[in-house]
Amino acid sequence: MASLLQLQAALPTDWQQEGLCRASDSVVFFPPAHFEHKPEREAREAKAKAICARCPVRVECLDWALTTREPHGVWGGYSESERKQILLGKRKAG
Ligand code: SF4
Repeated sequence: MASLLQLQAALPTDWQQEGLCRASDSVVFFPPAHFEHKPEREAREAKAKAICARCPVRVECLDWALTTREPHGVWGGYSESERKQILLGKRKAG
């Protein structure tokens, strides 16, 4: 069975070149080093999701994050907790 690192290395990554987050403030996509209160996290994630909503590779990005079980940040318009819900079948990706 392949490890996640092997899986990541085998997956195509050319879509990442078109991600809008490359030209955006990447700080909003990942939690800060300090403790983040819920309102702060929600505001940060909303900014990231607004960028993802306009991104031409959102579908590819979400597929990557789900396939590789990416544990951190907003990918494809979904936070880590939302992606867990998708993987558990408790939420549908839209
Ligand atoms: S969907 Fe969001 S996280 Fe993914 S490449 Fe686009 S802007 Fe970046």
